[in-house]
Amino acid sequence: MTTGTATRLAGPPAAEAVIATASAQAAGLPTPPHLVIVRVGDDPASVSYVRGKAKKAGEAGLRSTVHALPEATPQADLLALVATLNADPDVHGILVQLPLPAHIAEEPVLEAIDPDKDVDGLHPVNVGRLWSGRPALAPCTPAGIMAMLAHYGVAVAGRRVVIVGRSRLVGRPLAGLMLAADATVTVAHSRTRDLAAITRSADILVAAVGRAHLITPDMVAPGAVVIDVGINRVVGEDGKSHLTGDVHPHVAAVASALTPVPGGVGPMTVAQLMANTVQAAERQRSGALGELLR
Ligand code: NAD
Repeated sequence: MTTGTATRLAGPPAAEAVIATASAQAAGLPTPPHLVIVRVGDDPASVSYVRGKAKKAGEAGLRSTVHALPEATPQADLLALVATLNADPDVHGILVQLPLPAHIAEEPVLEAIDPDKDVDGLHPVNVGRLWSGRPALAPCTPAGIMAMLAHYGVAVAGRRVVIVGRSRLVGRPLAGLMLAADATVTVAHSRTRDLAAITRSADILVAAVGRAHLITPDMVAPGAVVIDVGINRVVGEDGKSHLTGDVHPHVAAVASALTPVPGGVGPMTVAQLMANTVQAAERQRSGALGELLR
């Protein structure tokens, strides 16, 4: 329930536009880009996310394969599968669904993925490329936020962007993308003092924390654009559980534009995975052509 006048920046139309572009680019390649998703164990959320990603790949004209490995898979077996996928020229994107079971260390697995097939953008080479302002596969949620802002014509260059949250998946890479897009960027986090004073300085405020309604109207400058990344399950007044964001609904009375939860940033993440897979396929193709031309 929103009370104000902020424009609603809905995710689905922006996500469809990203997918339409990715599909058109995929259609121009000699073979449809192939995304391989590896899942270990049966965490219900992961099962559902992976199903959604594979379904969307099909809709976008991409090929996808899911490797569902048992919970007890040894780390060495997972690393061996990643090595096989790296070496397979018919595989363009590799995504290892997180979280992994406790007995598997995440870092060595993420670092084993060929950076040019790393469609989640978590390999240190891609993190380094992003932060040095070079073309990189960037994590899907922040890249999706950039695509969403572009879709709705929200200018970023020269504007003050405050990102609340410094996670590897959202806050940090978004800061790198915003810098690359010429924004002036501040990253706030759990140890930030006087958060409200900082958030009030934002032309574009991004909340990526995971705390329901942390951002209240007094923390937002009139006319700011507010991007709500948070997904929080709460029990409403009706006693039913539902999803809500990090931004209080009354912020709609202050902001000029606001993303809803659900139906805002969420759909952008999966759409961007398709865009990243096409980008990875294009990189590999131009890399291969580069080799031939040398
Ligand atoms: P995370 O737990 O890894 O990071 C949370 C960040 O918030 C940390 O950097 C922490 O320093 C900061 N923080 C915690 N309490 C704070 C406070 N009181 N004030 C200021 N900063 C504080 O979480 P994440 O993976 O970045 O996810 C954040 C939220 O976004 C979650 O709700 C998650 O479900 C959601 N999310 C949504 C999508 C999507 O597709 N829409 C994708 C990823 C994450």
